[in-house]
Amino acid sequence: MMSAIESIGEAWSLGWRIRMRCAHGKRDGMKSIRECLYEADLDMETLVCTREQEFPLSTLAERLKCPRRGSHRVALVFEPPPSRDRATA
Ligand SMILES: [Zn+2]
Repeated sequence: MMSAIESIGEAWSLGWRIRMRCAHGKRDGMKSIRECLYEADLDMETLVCTREQEFPLSTLAERLKCPRRGSHRVALVFEPPPSRDRATA
């Protein structure tokens, strides 16, 4: 799904941004709950400072949890930096 970027160090140095979104949904077991719409921009710099540069992006989602529900079902959205080549063309 992504290009060759595999670690948070790489993503950070290339100016990528990561958004996390709670993927808890509207159900909690059998009962219906209010959907959690928690969303946040992750601070790449802090991530790289607190983990290792080589920390794999693929396991990042497992380490995160929604601060509202404590749910580990979190989806990550990777946003590449806007292409400067195209902007100047
Ligand atoms: Zn949530």
